[in-house]
Amino acid sequence: MNKKIPFKLLNWYFKNNYNFPWRKSNDAYSIWISEIMLQQTQVKTVIPYYNKWMNSFPNVEELSKSTLTKVLKNWEGLGYYKRAENIYKTSQILSRNNFTIPISYKELLKLPGIGDYTASAILSIAYNKKYASIDGNLKRVLTRLFKISKNKQTIKSFKNYANKLLCIKQYGDINQSLMDLGREICLPLKPNCIKCPINKFCKAYIDNDVANYSVLTVKKSIPTFNVVVSMIFKKNKFIIAKRASTGLLANLWELPGGKIIEGETRKKAINREIKEELNITIKSLHSIGTIKHQYSHFKVNIMLFLSEYNKGQLTAVTSQDIKWIAINQINNYTFPKATHKLFNLYRKYVKNNL
Ligand code: SF4
Repeated sequence: MNKKIPFKLLNWYFKNNYNFPWRKSNDAYSIWISEIMLQQTQVKTVIPYYNKWMNSFPNVEELSKSTLTKVLKNWEGLGYYKRAENIYKTSQILSRNNFTIPISYKELLKLPGIGDYTASAILSIAYNKKYASIDGNLKRVLTRLFKISKNKQTIKSFKNYANKLLCIKQYGDINQSLMDLGREICLPLKPNCIKCPINKFCKAYIDNDVANYSVLTVKKSIPTFNVVVSMIFKKNKFIIAKRASTGLLANLWELPGGKIIEGETRKKAINREIKEELNITIKSLHSIGTIKHQYSHFKVNIMLFLSEYNKGQLTAVTSQDIKWIAINQINNYTFPKATHKLFNLYRKYVKNNL
């Protein structure tokens, strides 16, 4: 490997100076939170969440003294809520160890939600230890830079190549320069090779062979589910239900309802779901529209019904808890993005029908 590569990367990195808020310090806590937030999420989405988070929980101690409910509220809308739950669990563990984030790779891996990538990012950026943070972006850069053939694209081989680049004792900066290069220049489909600081050394570019080293992720078709939910009113309050403590969107609140079974009408489905979920019947049922939402593995079309409580002993049959709330109390609870879309649909309906 040409020894100039890391120097070129560092020059480019310092010149571009992507001034993300988490780069203002090399504090392990900031690195940890930002790296978890950045998983499966774009930088521009993460920035306001990161700033809000740091205002609410400026360090491990403050975070550990908070509650999971508050943590989820701060995460609301960022998705993959398990990440927030794991951060909170980790803060509870660290509170038994003087709120200190471990400096050992082995110890970091024992913490909930911290894998090889995050541990390596924390160790290299916060403590300047020689650990390469291998994620999808870095794999792509390395594959092209060294023309790594398919049968050699293993984590062990990526680590070997990445470690070669970590030949100057600025391990965190080199890792971050590679993260920036993968995100801004060495893009999956159309890499901007002309602007690349290491194009002179890139084997795929030199051989005019970049296309053969582009990871073309074939988008899998994902299923769509038709779902019905209802805002069930009694006077000016409606029912919300808290999801189970495990699984998708764990511990978040939502409107009661569920999937339509094949052959079922929407009205029949919502009546059945409400009976199964809350042990009540509803009346004055009418639909006010449908929203679409996409999760990582499926899409949903959710039809929103308005209805009134009819009779029955309200019971949290399938949820952890149920509450009657007014529309101005929505902000006191954490809802998935799709539920916020439904609330917006409701507000629009009320505005148009006043
Ligand atoms: S020259 Fe092109 S393919 Fe090679 S590392 Fe740079 S951006 Fe990626």
